Amino acid sequence: MDVILVVNSGSSSLKFALYPLTEGNGKPLLSGVVSGIGVNPKLSAKLAGKSLTVKPPFDNIAKEATHDSLIKALLEKLESKYDQYQPVAVGHRMVHGGNLFTKPSKITPESLQQLKSLIPLAPLHQPHSIVAIEAIAKNAPELLQIACFDTSFHRTQSKIEQMFAIPRALTEEGIIRYGFHGLSYEYIASVLPEYLGDQADSRVLVAHLGNGTSMCAMTDRKSVSSTMGFSTLEGLVMGTRCGLLDAGVILHLIQEKGMSIDEVQKMLYHESGLLGVSGISSDMRELEESDHPDAKQAIDLFCHRAKEEIGNLTSVMNGLDNIIFTAGIGENSAMVREKICEPLAWLGVKLDLQANQNGEGKISAEDSRVGVYVIPTNEEATIAKSTRGFL
Ligand code: ADP
Repeated sequence: MDVILVVNSGSSSLKFALYPLTEGNGKPLLSGVVSGIGVNPKLSAKLAGKSLTVKPPFDNIAKEATHDSLIKALLEKLESKYDQYQPVAVGHRMVHGGNLFTKPSKITPESLQQLKSLIPLAPLHQPHSIVAIEAIAKNAPELLQIACFDTSFHRTQSKIEQMFAIPRALTEEGIIRYGFHGLSYEYIASVLPEYLGDQADSRVLVAHLGNGTSMCAMTDRKSVSSTMGFSTLEGLVMGTRCGLLDAGVILHLIQEKGMSIDEVQKMLYHESGLLGVSGISSDMRELEESDHPDAKQAIDLFCHRAKEEIGNLTSVMNGLDNIIFTAGIGENSAMVREKICEPLAWLGVKLDLQANQNGEGKISAEDSRVGVYVIPTNEEATIAKSTRGFL
């Protein structure tokens, strides 16, 4: 059977999934993730939703495996062991489309050059997606390749919303607020009618709370504002990224503390957020299990910043009708949802505490003015759907 291969090539991970050509239930036929690339690569894979005990498609992953060698191994294994599935197209998650890509695009030699020109905008993410594209072009040149962007969904925002108050020439050069997690928001926007019915086009705030965290304000299921801006650093507290930070702190670190650019970059992307504040872990589950006061403080700051941004985005939308929680923390942590929602009583937010514990679908109380929902996200399904559009 002909299938679509979805590839999400991250800094230390490679996620893949096979989807049928016909739109099904949004679930992949085969999926997997290799994590720990560059350190200690490990695979977990699922066939039709069930975990695989054998370790296809990479029986022995070499310690020195790279994104390039893993893509090659994946294509070979699909051909030799899963020949019931024949990929005809590949959909890639691309973090950055800059001002050049406002919708999914076919990858050609010209557009690949444009994607490369965007590397300075996402130096930690974009190169890995480009390696995956080039590995597929080299090993399976017959496959159609489509790039799907995390930034595209936000291009409906007003000009003002996308601007920083910096000299105009820099804005015109593309130093603007792009926003990210767009593939997740696009998926949520697509399923809102199932959950909200005729409220789907209302003022909806989506909180994507995973390792990376952001919020998106939507009206008419289109992005009007988001907490992430030029880079994936801005906004909320994340697993290891700082979120909101006075730009003066960066100047201070360089000028007064003598830190190098690389040291500052490492600190902001990898040593801050929940990990930096707690000194224990970037993982919300571990912090919830810890009774150390610094773990508690990290969770408190995470929820406080979330509450602040809800106020901000509510103001941008001139009000709020529904809140959606999604991604690892948003879908699974009843404690975080409660800590964020409890102080929002003034806005008309009231949780049904039992429904919040169950954590599926509607979790707001019957008399809550604002609806609150948990909706699982599915970025891969968005990529498969967009890729289908080219076939
Ligand atoms: P990524 O951004 O890497 O896709 P995820 O969306 O998988 O990340 O989210 C990872 C986060 O979700 C981690 O902080 C993890 O601890 C948290 N998480 C997952 N399950 C739970 C749970 N049951 N309770 C609390 N946090 C959870």
